[in-house]
Amino acid sequence: MDPARLALARSAPGFMPDEEGLALVEAAHGAPPGHPWVEVGTYCGKSTIYLGSAAEERGVVLFTVDHHRGSEENQPGQLYHDPRLVDVEGRVDTLPTFRAILAGARLEDTVVAVVGRSEVVATHWSTPIALLFLDGGHSQRQADLDFDGWARHLVVGGLLLIHDVFPDPRDGGRPPYEVYCRALRSRTFEEVGATGSLRVLRRRPHAGG
Ligand code: SAH
Ligand code: MG
Repeated sequence: MDPARLALARSAPGFMPDEEGLALVEAAHGAPPGHPWVEVGTYCGKSTIYLGSAAEERGVVLFTVDHHRGSEENQPGQLYHDPRLVDVEGRVDTLPTFRAILAGARLEDTVVAVVGRSEVVATHWSTPIALLFLDGGHSQRQADLDFDGWARHLVVGGLLLIHDVFPDPRDGGRPPYEVYCRALRSRTFEEVGATGSLRVLRRRPHAGG
């Protein structure tokens, strides 16, 4: 990864440890060619820089989806609230910071911000994708909506990356782990890698195909 870009990723506000960000880059290079990638959960673009730099190298577009109003834990008074990331009315707004970071990373020609609710965008989406990174809302309902809404757009051989997978509940919330288990149980996906709380799954060929 370009050193200036890596420094920016490391300093950006967000929730992607460097080791997992670099694992994201490495895994992303294994995505099949010819289709764009989707990230759910942009926040300020920390993971977007890692994924976007791999997308640029591969010559594909990365769509990154977020309503930019923050998850439950980002709201004022909550554990992961950042008082720098609010609009004039005091509502969480990560979009201006994300845009500045994306420009600073010189990734504006590779990354397309989609601003809206993930499940609404997924419903209207029809383009096959080669890579899906799930890192949005972590309630069970939202994690399920994101998986159901987006995973169906992955081509055979496409990569499903899930963040914040904690098999031990003492390490963190369970919904991403539940989604990971569902994906494996469905036999539609097989695990091909793991780093920290990042899991890398690949869409298997259809049964008999
Ligand atoms: N990938 C980021 C962290 C994402 S935090 C990083 O590397 O730092 C989770 C993000 O999901 C928040 O920005 C929140 O606004 C977004 N989010 C939560 N629920 C959402 C929904 N239903 N639709 C779109 N975005 C959502
Ligand atoms: Mg995360």
